[in-house]
Amino acid sequence: MDYSADFIKAAEALCDAGRFIDAKGWVPATSGNFSARLPDGNIAITTSGKHKGHLKVEDIMLIDAEANSLDGKKPSAETLLHTFLYKRYPAVNAILHPHSMNAIIISKLFGQKLVLENYELLKAFKGINTHEVKIEIPIFANHQDILHLANIIDRHLEPMKLCYGYIIAGHGLYTWGDSVPDALRHLEALDYLFECELRLHGVRKT
Ligand SMILES: [Zn+2]
Repeated sequence: MDYSADFIKAAEALCDAGRFIDAKGWVPATSGNFSARLPDGNIAITTSGKHKGHLKVEDIMLIDAEANSLDGKKPSAETLLHTFLYKRYPAVNAILHPHSMNAIIISKLFGQKLVLENYELLKAFKGINTHEVKIEIPIFANHQDILHLANIIDRHLEPMKLCYGYIIAGHGLYTWGDSVPDALRHLEALDYLFECELRLHGVRKT
């Protein structure tokens, strides 16, 4: 298949993001998946079963907005979580899903959401320019039926104005942005803030 220049550019950005995310230890043992929406509405997304720290352009595939493969490659089991998010948020053009440990521990300590407030680093999120803001990271129970999970998440996100990510309990984080670097900045900020909350939690317990 002849891929467009837009696809190749997006695929290269996803490979670079994968190396950075793997260096942080956030995608162990082939876990995680990443995607970028192309100007024509189709989506470049990681294929199933590849280590995200060693991605090559051929490990990225092309799907349409309904998650159908356009190049015959096999998409990740969680592809519907990406396509649902792109439909929910027209401004979102990149989604990163690591299985980062801080997100998983947060999900085991906190209930149905984590509230982040009064952190200077909240300004890393698009559209926020003060620490005097509160953002909510919803936490959903994990499920192997991805269509079911995607519907639950989509219903929850519908009324939310500011949302930069959600956690699937015991599983990992989904975060997004209007470009791959934007989503990567959100991921890095979220992991830092999760670490702050975890350390605080430990301090308060003792
Ligand atoms: Zn996953």
